[in-house]
Amino acid sequence: MTENRPHSDRQEKGRDAYRMIADLYPLCRSITGNGVRQTLRLLQARIPLEIHEVPSGTQVFDWVVPREWNIRDAYVKDSWGQKVIDFQKCNLHVVSYSVPVHRKMPLVELKNHLHSMVDHPDWVPYKTTYYKETWGFCLSQTVLGQLTDGDYEVFIDSELQAGHLTYGELVLPGRSSEEVLLSCHICHPSLCNDNLSGVAIATLLAERLMTAPRHYTYRFLFIPGTIGAITWLARNRGTVGRIRHGLVLTGLGDPGPITYKKSRIGNAPIDSSVAHMLSHSGLPHRILEFSPYGYDERQYCSPGFNLPVGRLSRTPFGEYPEYHSSADNLDFVQPTALGESFELLRGIIKTLEMNRTYLNLSPYCEPQLGKRGLYESIEGDAMALLWVLNLSDGSRSLLDIAERSGLSFSSVLGAKDVLVKNKLLQEMEPLP
Ligand code: ZN
Repeated sequence: MTENRPHSDRQEKGRDAYRMIADLYPLCRSITGNGVRQTLRLLQARIPLEIHEVPSGTQVFDWVVPREWNIRDAYVKDSWGQKVIDFQKCNLHVVSYSVPVHRKMPLVELKNHLHSMVDHPDWVPYKTTYYKETWGFCLSQTVLGQLTDGDYEVFIDSELQAGHLTYGELVLPGRSSEEVLLSCHICHPSLCNDNLSGVAIATLLAERLMTAPRHYTYRFLFIPGTIGAITWLARNRGTVGRIRHGLVLTGLGDPGPITYKKSRIGNAPIDSSVAHMLSHSGLPHRILEFSPYGYDERQYCSPGFNLPVGRLSRTPFGEYPEYHSSADNLDFVQPTALGESFELLRGIIKTLEMNRTYLNLSPYCEPQLGKRGLYESIEGDAMALLWVLNLSDGSRSLLDIAERSGLSFSSVLGAKDVLVKNKLLQEMEPLP
């Protein structure tokens, strides 16, 4: 029974994440507006998120918090009054941040405002126009090809007004004031892998950590991409210095292999922790160097902050055809992949929690392990005892020792416990 428990827990978490994604899927989110608020309120049923509202027009570094966008309805009707595009059927049909419009126009003019995917004629693309005032519709290439000449009625019942940018934040204090930052974006409408998978996995992790003893303080951010991260950083300059490790979570539900993108620092403890976990996980995976493109790691790793924040995903954005289309749906994300991603993330967090530096209290020649019964105490792992004793000179963490010895972090951890119990090892760093 015991050996089956991790597996069934992983399956249960995967199903739970999937159900959460299914609940959030219909909401029309954007970088601001009621879809974001509804999303955060749904999450509040599980975790005590604090919801922040930042007024439009607020200066945040080189950016300005934009006006708030909300939409009630939108359609395109042909000259017989039939809806050929209907926002109520799929919220991707309207370009996000479209300004209101209600007029008639010929097909040739309408086509300037239509977007489709030639390579995937039955999918509806996802488009935005946050920083340019215009409007547009997205539709499948198949439907576009069926539109005949004539006048069309175009209607977008949206509002673009002074309001707020909304984001959610949850801080779980630990024994230490040093922080682990976990950030996901909440600004995409009905897309599952790109944003909802990260939201669901972050929520499950927060739920798990709420009831666990914590060394670090954990800060979860549920923010609109780019402008949300910039806004949070602008409002929290005093907090940033406490962040020791961080991850951007996104794209965690597709069936592809795990991909970790390193922080700009490149060899921060988060980078080595994830690399170590992956190399001992048996999972197919890739590790990418940092680049100044992608998700909110771009902001956290901008040179002024240079935070130790990497990005955990499965297939990177743009490398799967379903990306930013109606095919990133509930058939594309899988409970199995979500469960596996969650378990990996939990392992990374456990590594961060347990990775501390110890000092060998008996450094002059080897202490005699036999007389303490230690050769027998952990089955066949006397090597781990010897490595931990030898390298615990105060300059190397347990993870450094795992890396240097080729042993798994968990066997190094096991050896550490035995040595501490036998008063041969002592933790170095006092808690701040
Ligand atoms: Zn996206």
